[in-house]
Amino acid sequence: MAEKLYQLQPLPYDYNALEPVISEGLLRLHHDKHHAAYVNGANAILQKLDKARKEGVDLDLKAITKEFSFHFGGLFLHERFWQNMGPAGKAGGEPSGKIGDVISKEFGSFSRFKKEFSMVANSVEGSGWATLSYCGHTERPVLTQIEKHNVNVGPQQRVLLVLDVWEHAYYLDYKNDRAKFVENWWNLVNWDAVEKRLP
Ligand code: MN
Repeated sequence: MAEKLYQLQPLPYDYNALEPVISEGLLRLHHDKHHAAYVNGANAILQKLDKARKEGVDLDLKAITKEFSFHFGGLFLHERFWQNMGPAGKAGGEPSGKIGDVISKEFGSFSRFKKEFSMVANSVEGSGWATLSYCGHTERPVLTQIEKHNVNVGPQQRVLLVLDVWEHAYYLDYKNDRAKFVENWWNLVNWDAVEKRLP
């Protein structure tokens, strides 16, 4: 039997569900081409490793582990990204409940959190992500900025909320206006999904 590989998870909503913030055309391209490429990339590495082990061949493991962390980071972060958004009109706004409390306690207010998270997103150099994670050591949420899909990642921090600011995430709809994309994106945050990731 073949070993298990990664799967491209379908979106949890229709391709047009995020309009007008994210167009159907952009979402199709982003999910079906970009996200899929990371799934395929990670699987290609697993298959290369399987083959080399079977044949007893040595590989350049420095290069391969680096490449794997890039592709796995890409597939993991995209899954989180799709899940932490919801149809425009049914998502966004200020979080209440446990996640609302966690954010207010750490940042002082939701508006302060929103400002800081947006600054993280807008200041990514080149390609990357803004994330809100949860640190089990301090039991506090923490902002992080991930470069590419795998640089500056805290290995044991649980990712609660992510925003993709690679150009492929917004260029088709927003051209070079990343700040406008980030501002509009807040209308898509699915706070129920984010709250479920709290420990
Ligand atoms: Mn992306």
